[in-house]
Amino acid sequence: MHYKFEKNELYAIHLDKIDPLGKWREHFFINEEEIYMCGNSLGLKSKEASETLDEILEIWKKECVGLWNIKNNKYFNYSNNLAAKMAPLVGAMPEEVAIVGSTTSNIHQAISTLYKPTHSKFKILIDDLNFPTDKYAIDSQVQLKGLDPKDAVKLVKSRDGQFIYEDDIIDAMTDDVALVFLPLVLYSNSQILDINKVTKEAKKRNILIGWDLCHAIGAIPINFESISPDFAVWCTYKYLNGGPGSIAGLYINQRHFDKTPGLSGWFGNKNETQFQLKNQFEHEKNASGWQIGTPSLLSMAPLEGALSIFEKVGIEEIRKKSLKMTDYMMYLTDETLSKYGFTIGNPRESENRGGHVCLIHEEAYRISQVLKDSKVTVDFREPNIIRMAPVALYNSYIDVYKVIQILLDSVKNEKYKNYSNHRGLVT
Ligand SMILES: *Cc1c(COP(=O)(O)O)cnc(C)c1O
Repeated sequence: MHYKFEKNELYAIHLDKIDPLGKWREHFFINEEEIYMCGNSLGLKSKEASETLDEILEIWKKECVGLWNIKNNKYFNYSNNLAAKMAPLVGAMPEEVAIVGSTTSNIHQAISTLYKPTHSKFKILIDDLNFPTDKYAIDSQVQLKGLDPKDAVKLVKSRDGQFIYEDDIIDAMTDDVALVFLPLVLYSNSQILDINKVTKEAKKRNILIGWDLCHAIGAIPINFESISPDFAVWCTYKYLNGGPGSIAGLYINQRHFDKTPGLSGWFGNKNETQFQLKNQFEHEKNASGWQIGTPSLLSMAPLEGALSIFEKVGIEEIRKKSLKMTDYMMYLTDETLSKYGFTIGNPRESENRGGHVCLIHEEAYRISQVLKDSKVTVDFREPNIIRMAPVALYNSYIDVYKVIQILLDSVKNEKYKNYSNHRGLVT
């Protein structure tokens, strides 16, 4: 879709007026004196999330250990219950989804289940732009098998230091590769990898394939029914707004249900025999069999409310608005910021970019400090990237307009020069 935007403030106000999702902003706790553009790092709290969190706190107070038995065992089966709400966001069957652990622990779980290196097929293929924890987990899984990551972890390098090219990934799928693990949307620059094509090519070569959906889930539609990868992992605190450290998602394709989980625990046991406390683990033959220990209900409860919003709005509508907002942000960047040294670091085409925009500027760090003092929350990444996510459910077009004006002010009037380049602990 190509929009004809205009540069003036009235036009931003007009865009908000005609926005069919505009009313959802009221469902979130928003400080109107600030502009939050960091939903790709930690999503805002919604009233719905607050309610389901308050509910479990009340139930704990009143019922204590009885909470496992009330409401038709809702909380005992909380992973399944939330998986049913989550499954449409990845286009999977509810049985293929578990709400469990963290992204990192789920990478360990999936890899330890599926990765069975042999003498001739033992490598794990990853890209060199992914979020570091993914590589740390893969390296340690390889080491647990007695292999050296230097031999067994194959890195697809970016040709241009900016993007990953699908053809390079496919070329690297040699006979010695056992498994491929990639991000669907790159956290650094919002690039979407062609999941259909890459998954198909991996299957052709008898290579297992898993996807990290952290920067994709809740921002772009995903359809695993047709893609049918082997596994996927994702966090729920970014675009899904599940709260800080909310429990993550794990997808295990049904063709693997018979495999024994790499990391087993009593919450992965069949419901019927779990409380018989037998010595022999009998795992549930669906994704919930990949749970390990007692679920962290307090970190799952806000997700219930947060997901109810996605059920009502629908991911297609969210994606439509997100694309329009990022288009608008790029338009304003081209029109007003490009002459002051800003370049756009994300792919421009709609089908190739996720929910955030990346601006590159050699003074990005000091500019991000100006933004901070102007009460704008963005995400700075070394060495020169400012990431901004105008989130469809709660950001407005006027938010986008104002951020661009503040960026303009910081470079045009050289405000960033009042700041030091010294980095803090969390950037
Ligand atoms: C956010 C993110 C993570 C986070 O992992 P946690 O285990 O939740 O800390 C991992 N990988 C990618 C690609 C991410 O974007």
